[in-house]
Amino acid sequence: MKPAPFAYAKARSLGHAVELISNSPGEAKLLAGGQSLVASLNMRLSSPSLLVDINDVSGLDGITVEDGAVEIGALVRHAQAEHSDTIARHAPLIARALPHVAHPAIRNRGTIGGSIAFADPAAELPACLVALGGEVDVAGPDGKRTIKADDFFTALFETALGPQDVLTAIRVPAARKDTSVGFAELARRQGDYAMVGLAAAARAAGKQLVDVRLVFFGVGAVPTRARKAEHAMAQGAIDDAVKALADDLDPPADIQASARVRRHLAGVLLKRVAGQLQGGDS
Ligand code: FAD
Repeated sequence: MKPAPFAYAKARSLGHAVELISNSPGEAKLLAGGQSLVASLNMRLSSPSLLVDINDVSGLDGITVEDGAVEIGALVRHAQAEHSDTIARHAPLIARALPHVAHPAIRNRGTIGGSIAFADPAAELPACLVALGGEVDVAGPDGKRTIKADDFFTALFETALGPQDVLTAIRVPAARKDTSVGFAELARRQGDYAMVGLAAAARAAGKQLVDVRLVFFGVGAVPTRARKAEHAMAQGAIDDAVKALADDLDPPADIQASARVRRHLAGVLLKRVAGQLQGGDS
């Protein structure tokens, strides 16, 4: 199929991008890597009257570490992040997740900001952002603001972004000596969206884990924290954590897997990730 007709404008700066969307009489959408948006235009799942291309906006493609936090600009490509020494060292959970995001060709164009703004419920990076207790920087018609990851993903493909907002960067706490992370997912083929996935972060005090955050994806409308399982993991009770998933998760059934199979797979992933958090290599 071909997309419905739309106008196209290239933003020269962040302010210009906000101005273009704010002044559009019809629906305007930002174009970043285009890897999700163009497909949804072609399938006519979305028919904006204006596309605002932000690829030439400067200042959105940096990866920096400052004041104990790693900041990743919205226009950083998945591939750029995947090969970044800074991310490998200071945001190892994101480094582990990136090779699971789509395929190399898509990672060459797709952006970090696009993944977070698109908020696919089976996507890896939104779950990592929540697991790390990160934040999202936004510029809009009323200026700049920061939204906590816990408040950002609001419903299926919906976020706290307004229609005239530009996501400018994400920020996560830089890994410390005692930071422990784990990541695992099950997909039908490497590069497919996950049937079930788990991004996890904790602080390790010897074998004891504290501040455990277990965030599943592909099991609901938004990245889902498994709070009872987190509590059990902090007690070192991994079998109890797996059992607690029956209360924590209410996964959907679809063509890929029934709810029962998804919950079972979540338990399998939890055992693998528990090994990673405790310093093993599962
Ligand atoms: P675009 O397609 O340009 O935009 C997506 C949406 O986000 C649009 O609504 C756009 O307006 C909005 N947007 C983009 N940037 C901003 C911004 N800075 N501020 C506000 N709104 C913005 N993703 C995964 O996570 N895991 C996968 O396994 C996976 N598999 C894929 C497989 C295939 C075959 C394809 C085609 C895509 C897959 N993707 C997957 C999606 C891919 O990661 C996309 O790159 C990503 O979801 C969107 O990034 P983008 O830069 O291409 O955004």
